[in-house]
Amino acid sequence: MSKNIHIIGSGFSSLSAACYLAKAGHQVSIYEKNSSVGGRARQLIKNGFTFDIGPSWYWMPDIFDRFFSDFGKKTSDYYQIDKLDPAYKIFFDDDIITVGDCMEKICNEFERIEKGSGIKLNKFINVKILKLKLILVSILFWFLNKTKTGKSMRAYSDNEDLALLSGIDPKRVVMITWIIAGILATIGGALYGLDKSFKPFTYFNNMLPIFAAAIVGGIGNPFGAFLGGYVIAFSEIFLTYAYKKFFMYVLPASMEPETLVQLLSTDYKFAVSFSILVIVLLYRPNGIFKGKVL
Ligand SMILES: Cc1cc2nc3c(=O)[nH]c(=O)nc-3n(C[C@H](O)[C@H](O)[C@H](O)COP(=O)(O)OP(=O)(O)OC[C@H]3O[C@@H](n4cnc5c(N)ncnc54)[C@H](O)[C@@H]3O)c2cc1C
Repeated sequence: MSKNIHIIGSGFSSLSAACYLAKAGHQVSIYEKNSSVGGRARQLIKNGFTFDIGPSWYWMPDIFDRFFSDFGKKTSDYYQIDKLDPAYKIFFDDDIITVGDCMEKICNEFERIEKGSGIKLNKFINVKILKLKLILVSILFWFLNKTKTGKSMRAYSDNEDLALLSGIDPKRVVMITWIIAGILATIGGALYGLDKSFKPFTYFNNMLPIFAAAIVGGIGNPFGAFLGGYVIAFSEIFLTYAYKKFFMYVLPASMEPETLVQLLSTDYKFAVSFSILVIVLLYRPNGIFKGKVL
């Protein structure tokens, strides 16, 4: 049944809600206290200059694409996105900071402001995280294969009854497993946050891929979990990556694609891990490294 709906404000949220409600057949009215629409994203035009009031970065383009396609349109029917270089400039009284469009330029700007900082930033981003991951994996494998506690954990995981007969204390094994899992999850979360962003519910988004990685690799096999992680991550990226940029590099300008050239929207990342999980459970339930069957 069609209803009369009144929406206060004309920002992105109100405008998009109004579009969907109108599409569903309702009578929608929007009330805005300012003289123009757009909310935080509106423009201020003064003395011949146009200023953006709020947003400057075009984040999550797939969401805009999906919104337009829900109404049978394309973003390219209305606007074109050009990558800016420099991305932006910050003006101080005595200096201008120029943020370039790639990591190399950003590092160079850091270097200009403080000698050695650009190299440090680059090292930190590219090398430190990878190094730390390799060190952690090596310590974990050394611990599991070379120490008495690690061996008792593996023995308990392989054959519970035999492990109990050889005098392994199951409570101790479970406690140590939880401590190690907690430490690794904390470090993993901190590194993930450095690479992406820190958000309280990030863990929830990563639960399914982590679960899938452990099963794909083989439950109970640490190397399997390591490899399973890469299989899941690369499959997700391969299927949801926007290949537009890639084609822009390899094709002549006249053949540049207009769309993002994505096999699947990034919203379907979960579906990719879930599908892999289902396929593995159906066809190879003990995973790549023949772990346990759940
Ligand atoms: C400085 C700044 C930089 C930002 N940078 C980015 C960025 O780079 N990239 C990005 O994606 N996001 C950015 N954002 C965030 C983004 O702008 C907002 O998330 C988005 O615009 C919010 O939209 P909204 O519809 O939720 O709210 P708003 O855009 O705030 O819309 C609310 C509307 O309601 C109206 N209103 C409120 N009360 C009443 C009332 N009583 N009667 C009538 N009208 C009323 C307001 O006037 C306004 O038009 C930035 C925000 C700011 C402030």
